[in-house]
Amino acid sequence: MTREQHLEQLKTGQTFDLLIIGGGATGCGVALDAVTRGLKVALIEKNDFAEGTSSRSTKLVHGGVRYLEAAIKKLDRVQYHLVKDGLKERYLLLKNAPHLSNRLPLVTPLYRWIDVPYVFAGLKLYDFLSGKRHIGHSRLLSRKQALRRFPMLKPAGLKAGVLYYDGQFHDARMALSLALTAECHGASISNHVAVTMLLKEEGQISGAELTDSLTGESWPLHARGVINATGPFADSIRKMDNPAASEIISASTGIHIVLDKRFAPADTGLMIPETDDGRVLFVLPWEDHALIGTTDEPAAITEHPRPLEEEIDYLLRHVTRYFNLKVERSDIKATWSGLRPLVRDPEAVDTASLARDHVIEVSTDGLLTIAGGKWTTYREMAMDTIDQALISFRLETPNPGCQTKHLPILGGANYHAHGDQALVKKYGFAADIAAYLHRTYGDQAEQVARLTSPHKAIRLVKDHPILEAEVIYAVRYEMAERVIDVLARRTPLARLDIAAARTAAPRVLEIMAKELSWDLQRCKDERQITEQLLSEGL
Ligand SMILES: Cc1cc2nc3c(=O)[nH]c(=O)nc-3n(C[C@H](O)[C@H](O)[C@H](O)COP(=O)(O)OP(=O)(O)OC[C@H]3O[C@@H](n4cnc5c(N)ncnc54)[C@H](O)[C@@H]3O)c2cc1C
Repeated sequence: MTREQHLEQLKTGQTFDLLIIGGGATGCGVALDAVTRGLKVALIEKNDFAEGTSSRSTKLVHGGVRYLEAAIKKLDRVQYHLVKDGLKERYLLLKNAPHLSNRLPLVTPLYRWIDVPYVFAGLKLYDFLSGKRHIGHSRLLSRKQALRRFPMLKPAGLKAGVLYYDGQFHDARMALSLALTAECHGASISNHVAVTMLLKEEGQISGAELTDSLTGESWPLHARGVINATGPFADSIRKMDNPAASEIISASTGIHIVLDKRFAPADTGLMIPETDDGRVLFVLPWEDHALIGTTDEPAAITEHPRPLEEEIDYLLRHVTRYFNLKVERSDIKATWSGLRPLVRDPEAVDTASLARDHVIEVSTDGLLTIAGGKWTTYREMAMDTIDQALISFRLETPNPGCQTKHLPILGGANYHAHGDQALVKKYGFAADIAAYLHRTYGDQAEQVARLTSPHKAIRLVKDHPILEAEVIYAVRYEMAERVIDVLARRTPLARLDIAAARTAAPRVLEIMAKELSWDLQRCKDERQITEQLLSEGL
């Protein structure tokens, strides 16, 4: 369905069971859980799906090696369960969205003998906690083996390494795919629609006023229950309900930088176990590039957080310390910053020590807020949220139990590991294009492929496998409404290579203008907004 058709459904005046505010990992996951239990669901997102934190993560599907260390050192049960739940959910995400995720071996380099038994035992415990859902066995690497797996490592002083496994995924497309899977099950969804006010009847929340961010049009939507899944912005919705509500979100920023593929082998990541300030740092292969992150600093809540120069220096300094290659500021192809929606703990000394657990709160007037957690556990968070919503809003459905444990995400149901070869054979695509389409769209890749026929797989920009046909697909089937929706979230171009995204922008605008019948003024506005976002940071 198109966005227009969804908007029509959202404007009919019908009463939904649930209105879900926020189209990130949390909101999209909650919408899918709710609709597959048979509830009538509306999901709205102020900007684009995953435009907030959910497209700005390290893209790891993990239990969290660092949380395990904290669990053991501080005998902390919350952190321990966080790791266990994360490992269970890691397995399910890899299974249900096989096209958007993969298993990734990671090397931990060790420069002191004393660290070898400690790190090895810790990672063995990490394997053990995943039980029968393990995705690979950790093992010790000799110095030579560590250098063979990750040749960019500085050899001087290297004693050994430990190889372990975690998952990796495409966060922006995962959120979109959750929303589109919810759509397939009957949810009414829209991006670029904001909640501007909560509606109440007899002191209880009965819906919200919605505003189309693209046209400015507002209308009321009635729902038996309203769920606030706005991540870092959760307090702004809580204050619409009760202006005196005390804040529960404490945001911290994390930035990433992207370098070209010289800086990471295609099939192995690096986990630096201890930075200057006691954090972990990852260097990961991602979409034929090297992704490096992240930082963790308390931050103000803003819609488009930007990486600071000192944060970029921090990452470059650590890479330089561990790498045999010279890394310079000019090697950076893209950077971005994201806000962690951590649930505030007045006792916490710093944001890194806050547990990444989720919290569900129901206000006196019936606003259900789900906050905190991490991408990996979105499904479990959604399950807990809807379990609570059924009780709090007295909702009735023939399927009250959670249905998502074995539910394939759009593109995953008929995905086969070597499906890219069929695309090469049938459409004559170059191998990189076929592999990219296959892992990006899964069993939907042929739908994109069919749109290429008159154009013969024209690349949007050279040296990237991203196609012009994807712009058409994104508009027709994935609710892309702005040029930046295509450049930063339907495709990964702007996250990988800002210069390439700038080159591609005029052609993306041209295709979108034709598909969406934009007038000259809209084209002018889009050109300006896109250029501003690409030059200032997304
Ligand atoms: C640097 C960094 C690295 C991370 N790495 C990982 C990782 O590797 N693995 C992992 O599991 N987790 C990771 N996380 C955590 C994970 O990304 C977040 O927990 C998750 O994305 C939060 O999703 P969310 O939906 O709660 O918030 P968001 O993605 O921010 O979504 C909230 C949405 O609500 C919308 N919204 C706000 N106000 C309104 C309104 N009035 N009306 C309508 N919509 C509104 C916003 O526009 C936004 O899109 C990382 C986080 C950061 C910051």
